[in-house]
Formats: sequence, structure tokens, C-alpha cells
Amino acid sequence: MKKHLLILFLSLLTLVSCSDDNNQASGQKTGTLKGKVTTVNTHKPVGGALVFTFDDRNEIYFTRTNAMGEFEFRAPIGNRELHIQTGDGSNFRTKFDVAVEENQTQVLEEASLRLDQTARMAYVGGTYDNIEDIITDLGYTVEQLTFNQLNDYTIVSQYDIIFLNCGSIPSTQSISGHTNITNNLSQFVTNGGSLYASDWAVAYLVGGTNKTTQCDAAGGFIADATLCSINNGVMGTLNGFITNTVLANATGITTLDIDYDLGQWQKINSVDESFWEVLVRETGTNQPLMIRTNHYTNPTVVGDRVGNSENSDWVTICHYDAESDTYINITIETDEWPAHEAHGDSLGSCSGNNMSGTIYYTTFHNHANLDNGSQSILEHVILNL
Ligand SMILES: [Zn+2]
Repeated sequence: MKKHLLILFLSLLTLVSCSDDNNQASGQKTGTLKGKVTTVNTHKPVGGALVFTFDDRNEIYFTRTNAMGEFEFRAPIGNRELHIQTGDGSNFRTKFDVAVEENQTQVLEEASLRLDQTARMAYVGGTYDNIEDIITDLGYTVEQLTFNQLNDYTIVSQYDIIFLNCGSIPSTQSISGHTNITNNLSQFVTNGGSLYASDWAVAYLVGGTNKTTQCDAAGGFIADATLCSINNGVMGTLNGFITNTVLANATGITTLDIDYDLGQWQKINSVDESFWEVLVRETGTNQPLMIRTNHYTNPTVVGDRVGNSENSDWVTICHYDAESDTYINITIETDEWPAHEAHGDSLGSCSGNNMSGTIYYTTFHNHANLDNGSQSILEHVILNL
């Protein structure tokens, strides 16, 4: 009797250890991959990057890097393509081949885990902001555009991302006198382009001038009702807190002091949270300090996808992972799409408007904020547009 109990016990033990080796219900055998994702050239850690691979049935195995860029996860055994992507994978991504061995932990070389830039990026120079310095510091490249070049859609549409620095609208001019520019930005975002605007550059979005003083200022391409920004911020340091867990995990910070070093800045007075997601708020007042949306689209200008030809053989999809019951935005090679379509994935973004790009707006910029939390937030914005 005792012997039988022992056998029963041993077989239960075997069952337990078998199921431990297989992290998928399918019984797929796995090994562990670990490493550290960094930027090219300057080798800064990349937090919040999605690291993933697929098994033979196109089931995804994934994790996200921590704020130090480190990851460790179980991957299906065999010869696999490992993907590293930030944002939805359309602008920064890397892939390489790896042989995963059963129950072995493989430490991947840092040199093969560098995040490549696939986006073509431009910035419009400003008086008080230099996002281009942070981009260069990360080891990536960005071209300069003049304000007037935004009038030409053949130029605008060559890019995947355009950064609109604070102070880049000629002083004393209202954006309402530049409808070509705002029409082009509307078409750009509708067809997959992403924008980042800081402080006074909010006028490109909702109208007005450098120093917009009213909520319903003329011009811009986004409905005034979604965002009211007024140039009544005062000089000083504000404490903010991060409300988005992905951003908090990626940067490793939950609160930060933001140095508003200028006499005036564009305060966000109110925001429609069904259109904009608030990522950072002021401690105490809960006033939004940083927002983003991927809900913008203009149905009358839907056309060719904007951007770099390097992206033409790739497609961004919303992959459904039954194992974790989550939808994950990834970018895959076009010839892999039929297999994903077959298990019910959809094209484009998992949230917001399917084919349009993302718009980020921060009340702060990098001018006075190097070496503190807002720099790591801005680095995250650059890599996740
Ligand atoms: Zn899929």
C-alpha cells in the first residue's frame, strides 16, 4: 500500500514538473532567453520594449524590458526569429535569429539587441526646445525641416515622425494663416504619420499663436473641444506623477519634478479624455501635463501611407494572444500576415483609429530638463511614437 502511494506521489511530481516546463497549454517545450536592449551607437537602456517570438502555430511568446532595458522570458525551442520593438513596431525595431534550447537559459549578446531606427524622422527647429538633441543623444538620426517646408506635402509625407518644437511657429503669426500646413499635418497623421508637439507648438494642433490665450483660437486641425490650452503657466518647478503603468515601468519613475524655466507656458486647462489619454498629471491639482491620442483621423484625406520605404514590406497588426487574453500591437513582414489573419488578427492599431499615427503633446520640453525624469519620459516618447 505504501509502495503504491509512493508511486502515485512520484507520478504526481512528474506531472507537476512537466507542466512547469511548458508554459503554454499546447505543451510547447521552451527555453529561457535573457538580455539587455539598448539604443544604437550610444547604448542607452531601452525600457518598455516588447521582446517576442512565435512558435510554429504563430502563438506569441513575449515580455517587456524593465527600465534598465533587461528582459528574461521563456521562448519555444527551435530556430526562432526574435523581435524587439517599441511603440507599435513601425518606427523602431530589430530582429535576429536565435536557436532556443529546451530548459537552457541563453544570455544574448548586447550587440545583437540594439534597437534599430526604421522611421525617417524630422523636426522643425524652435526657439526654446531642442528635441533633436535628445534624439541624437539616443544615437538616432533626425533631419531638420523649416516651418515653410511643412507647406509641401511631398516633403511632409516622406517622414514617419515629425517633431514640432516649442517656438517653431514664427512669432506674431497665427497658425490660422497657414492652412496648408495644418491640412498637411492632418493628412500626415491620418495616413500613419506621428507628431510630437511641446508647449507653444500646441497651436499646430488646436490653433492660435506661440502663446495661445484662448480655448477657441482659430486654426489647427484638431477640434478645440478636445483640448483647451492657455498660455498662463508660471515659472517654477512642478511635481508630476505618471498615470500610465507602461510609461512608469519603462522609465522606472512614478513621480518627477519638472522645471518650467520660462515666464510663460501653455497650461492644459481641460482635455476630453475620450480623445486624449493623460500620461502625466500635476500632483495635487491633477492638471494634465502630458497627453497623447491615436484617435485622430480625417476621412476626407485618407490616401497613401506616409513614410520611409524601409517600412513598405512590413505591416502593423493587432495580434490577439489567447494565452494572456490580450491584444498586442506588433509589426511583422507582409508575407507573414496571412498566417495571422487566419487566426483572427486585424490590421493597424489595437486601440484608437486603425491606420492613423499617434500625437503626443507635453506642456514641458527638454530645454531645462536634462538629467531628470522628464528626459527619460521624452526618450520614451521618441521611441514610442
Ligand atoms: Zn497573430
